[in-house]
Amino acid sequence: MDRGNGVDAATLFEEGGLTYDDFILLPGYINCSLADISLETELTRRAAIKSPIISSPMDTVTESRMAIYMALLGGIGIVHYNNTVEEQAEEVRKTKRFENGFIMEPVVLSPDHRISDVDAIKRRHGFSGIPITQDGQVGGKLVGIVSGRDIDFEPDRSKRLREVMSTDLVTAPIGITLTEGNRILRQSKKGKLPIVDEDGNLVCLMSRTDLRKNQDFPLASKDESKQLLVGAAVGTHPDDRDRLGALVEAGVDVVVFDSAQGYSVFQVDMIKWAKERYPDLGIIGGNVVTPDQCEGLIEAGADGLRVGMGSGSICITQETVAVGRSQASAVYHCARAAHQKGVPVIADGGITSIGHIAKALAVGADTVMMGSLLAATEEAPGEYFYEGGVKVKRYRGMGSPEAMADRGARRYMERDEAIKVAQGVSGTVVDKGSVVDYVPYLLQGLRHALQDLGCRSVRELHEGVEAGRVGFEKRTPSARVEGGVHSLHSFQEPHRFSSSKS
Ligand code: NAD
Ligand code: IMP
Repeated sequence: MDRGNGVDAATLFEEGGLTYDDFILLPGYINCSLADISLETELTRRAAIKSPIISSPMDTVTESRMAIYMALLGGIGIVHYNNTVEEQAEEVRKTKRFENGFIMEPVVLSPDHRISDVDAIKRRHGFSGIPITQDGQVGGKLVGIVSGRDIDFEPDRSKRLREVMSTDLVTAPIGITLTEGNRILRQSKKGKLPIVDEDGNLVCLMSRTDLRKNQDFPLASKDESKQLLVGAAVGTHPDDRDRLGALVEAGVDVVVFDSAQGYSVFQVDMIKWAKERYPDLGIIGGNVVTPDQCEGLIEAGADGLRVGMGSGSICITQETVAVGRSQASAVYHCARAAHQKGVPVIADGGITSIGHIAKALAVGADTVMMGSLLAATEEAPGEYFYEGGVKVKRYRGMGSPEAMADRGARRYMERDEAIKVAQGVSGTVVDKGSVVDYVPYLLQGLRHALQDLGCRSVRELHEGVEAGRVGFEKRTPSARVEGGVHSLHSFQEPHRFSSSKS
């Protein structure tokens, strides 16, 4: 290459230590329209997904709500394991049981509960429209519904719900379609539509606030039984074998062995054990940043690899232990090694823009995993609050002191380790709205990137890079300044993820 057309990837990465911001991709020949571009890619050597986007197994990023919408949008969510085995398995189960538009396991109370119980649910989940059944369970006889309107101005929060609930109910019969349910919700102007069986027992719920999300998701990642795909993280400690068993029982499709430095006797043994015990389970090993680490974990049986050590936005690993690697170099070298064995790689951490996603794929990643970009979406766990007038959510490293203290200590450190060394921080990230708007925005930006490179698919991009058809160029510090907004007195940030739906 060159003659002014840039260098190939191999030449670029001869020099070590490159981050995504250290280079730029040179344009190719646009040979198709955006609609012709496929983002389909491989998650593991046994599973493909339609969008190369994964949400990170962090307790401020992925529980079932995030996992459901990541899968609906064509990617996948990996449920974190900073919780009990039962809690994590339940998040997996909820994702597998999800039926688009219907809330299969709504929060339910009984007439004997008090308004203060609704207040607690509102604080935890952010909603107060709750169906009331005789026994307080899904499947019990529906006797009422409580919404903000019934309780907002009631000074006595100890009042029983039987005294305040609405009993004038609009319900729909089991078997109703999504379209019919949406029509009833619109016409009735109610916030919630309980779906009941022929005896009036509550089966599930539709919610007005979810109307926007009750759409078709043609890219959805599904298994052979048409259930959404979901992943879960596990550790490599002896009792994580029980956890893995419970996750398999709950229907998990892929597990991610979640260590900062995954090339260890502990993970190798765990992968071998899991492979033998659960031969149909997808196994992602990591984290890795060198070809030797990749080869070791692939030899143990990994079907996919997670690449990145020290590049996360909340990460202080490189400062603390002086071990890790600049992320673009890590992805490039690991992808080359893994692809030779037919194993896909996830570029994990350090993604702050659509351009970074495109660059991660260009240097060999099959998918990208994100924490900070998704942590302030509606689907991430946690409540929004205002910090200096800006709407934010909390986001923290799984090795931050706070995450370690919150049950994390057991899994973050060796149990007998008396002195704990944090490898992460906690902070806040700015509101990004719903992933239902935000992820399609990211994917559309990615399609523009592929189009400009002259590639119709992620596979074509990889082939083009391999064959030296895609040009790369190093960026100097001044090139980076030039590539950003500059020389203005002031400017307005564009609405980076506006969509026609919002
Ligand atoms: P970990 O549980 O894998 O490792 C903690 C310690 O326990 C390590 O010293 C490890 O060697 C040891 N250990 C693991 N299995 C063992 C076994 N069976 N017997 C004895 N010792 C064993 O967790 P971690 O690597 O500290 O990572 C914790 C979390 O923080 C993860 O969520 C990880 O993704 C995140 N993290 C990520 C990065 C990164 O750069 N990607 C960096 C730091 C932390
Ligand atoms: P981000 O997308 O840049 O925010 O990075 C997310 C990634 O950081 C995760 O997927 C993990 O690999 C990594 N990570 C999570 N917690 C920690 C931590 O406490 N220290 C270092 N890295 C972490």
